[in-house]
Amino acid sequence: MRFIDEFRDGQLARGLAAAIRQAAHADRDYSFMEFCGGHTHAIARYGVSDLLPPAVRLIHGPGCPVCVLPIGRIDMAIRLALDAGVTLCSYGDPMRVPASAGLSLIKAKAKLGRDKETTTTAGSAPACGEIRMIYSPADALALAQRHPERQVVFLAIGFETTTPPTALLIKQAQAFGLSNFSVLCCHVLTPSAMASILESPEVRRWGTLPLDGFIGPAHVSTIIGTRPYEFFAEEYRKPVVIAGFEPLDVMQAILMLIKQVNAGQALVENEFSRAVSRDGNRKAQQLVADVFELRRSFAWRGLGELPYSALRIRKEFADFDAERRFGVGYHTVADHPACECGAVLRGVKRPQDCRIFASVCTPENPVGSCMVSSEGACAAHYSFGRFA
Ligand code: SF4
Repeated sequence: MRFIDEFRDGQLARGLAAAIRQAAHADRDYSFMEFCGGHTHAIARYGVSDLLPPAVRLIHGPGCPVCVLPIGRIDMAIRLALDAGVTLCSYGDPMRVPASAGLSLIKAKAKLGRDKETTTTAGSAPACGEIRMIYSPADALALAQRHPERQVVFLAIGFETTTPPTALLIKQAQAFGLSNFSVLCCHVLTPSAMASILESPEVRRWGTLPLDGFIGPAHVSTIIGTRPYEFFAEEYRKPVVIAGFEPLDVMQAILMLIKQVNAGQALVENEFSRAVSRDGNRKAQQLVADVFELRRSFAWRGLGELPYSALRIRKEFADFDAERRFGVGYHTVADHPACECGAVLRGVKRPQDCRIFASVCTPENPVGSCMVSSEGACAAHYSFGRFA
């Protein structure tokens, strides 16, 4: 298949591996963070790390949308279904993220099913809250159109890639005059998370997280372009290479980063030029700007409260903001005491450093969010047998 097969070619991979070995100086180490969960998945799946010389180290970053969602946000979604009686619609992965009180969205869904059975058997009115898994945001809108008697809420998560479809959904709901549809907005921003990593004490003060550059996100960059990364390159003197999600994309980006480091450069380069431009998708950016504005602060799992790191719905679209409509607020909840997701998301620890990795915590029984989505570092390492 075009644009896939040629980026998975074994012969080319061996050639790139040889070029990386040749370019990497023996007397120094190179540490690069792949920001995005899609890259983490590709690196684990195709064994990219096995092809690199020992001097080149890859560090997993916080770019998995499900992983960075804190427990308090999942709790908000659960409360909407259990207490406010809405029909809560979510993608599949957030359904399995552990929340407070031993619940998750999927367990809350089961509880609602049991409650409904009990109340129906007892002859009283059935519980009206409901949790549904959807494949596309449009499914939530269609549900609201089919059931005007229900309040339908879409749990919107993700980085800049998934924000434009949510903006479109809200505009459509307004155009249709829907009064029973709203969005629990948990959209977050990539540049703020990168800045948080670069400002972290591990990088700046203690130097325990050596970071020589970033493999920049693929899909996110199709929307925002390469321009926003220029700040990091200039201000922090860290090279950024935007890379596609295929193994050869990642290897080519590593080679480009090594060459920059050797030359003492800190530039933004674009390996994924077949899909990403400097300015990104202007139409999508305008759509997002029409519907959303910056939040003053947002809590991330692992990174804590970050200023201006997430979006909220503008007051012109306040009728479609579930937080305003149902008055549901965020509360901080601590992660499981044994869970190292925070440190994994900051790149400070590897999945294997967590003492419950692959024993208590598995994809079938995730204790932390990094074991839920295939883009989570723990799930990627577990799925492809990378325990060492
Ligand atoms: Fe969190 Fe599980 Fe990963 Fe440990 S193994 S860091 S508990 S997701």
